[in-house]
Amino acid sequence: MGSNDWRAARPEGSAVERTTIAEKVYEDIKERILDQTLKPGERLTIESLSRLLATSSSPIREALARLESEKLVVSRVYAGYSVAPPPDPAFLSGLLDFRALVEGHCARIGAPRRDRAILETLESAYAQMSKTKRLGTRYREYRRFVQEDARFHRAIVESSGNPATAQVYANLHAVLVQSRLYVTRKTSDGARAEQVMAEHRAILEAFRAGDGEAAERAIRGHLEGGRRRLLTPPGAGSPAGPAA
Ligand SMILES: [Zn+2]
Repeated sequence: MGSNDWRAARPEGSAVERTTIAEKVYEDIKERILDQTLKPGERLTIESLSRLLATSSSPIREALARLESEKLVVSRVYAGYSVAPPPDPAFLSGLLDFRALVEGHCARIGAPRRDRAILETLESAYAQMSKTKRLGTRYREYRRFVQEDARFHRAIVESSGNPATAQVYANLHAVLVQSRLYVTRKTSDGARAEQVMAEHRAILEAFRAGDGEAAERAIRGHLEGGRRRLLTPPGAGSPAGPAA
């Protein structure tokens, strides 16, 4: 049975139902990519995904376009969609250098501005992240943590008040790209969540105090901590895991 038959056999749902289905399909495919049930390089056809997820083709198309913008999926003319290869360590290391440069710069000029909306976002993302006690290696376990971490770091970049920088940064999906390595890491524990949260607390406190230099230092310290957690091979001393 083709996907068109499936659609024809069902009455059109409300706009809200369609949005919910699209969101579920997107989250489902995303989970399979991050947990590597769908392997890097694996071809993704609309037909096979429709069968796998028992849904029509339109939410699949929508999900693939969204995942492509997040760099989890790549598309090539004639070849169609496939799961994006995971970032290699050299790329991730360069990404962390870039983040330290941009986020450090933005924090230095952003913290002294004491923008109320920015501070509220930092406080609320920090509070949400604090609810995670154990980071885990599966998307379901770290999903909320990573989303809130991304929100926290976006707010730091936005604090500088430069929309062009904010846009370039947002399009990188840096936090999500890094999380593609979590699946291959050893099971992480509560101690690591505490360490990441202590680094975030230092950033938050510098913003609360309006201290640009301390904010830049704290961001750079946090991203260096992320580099150690993310790029130290398992078994080579310090354990690796979600870097946040
Ligand atoms: Zn972080």
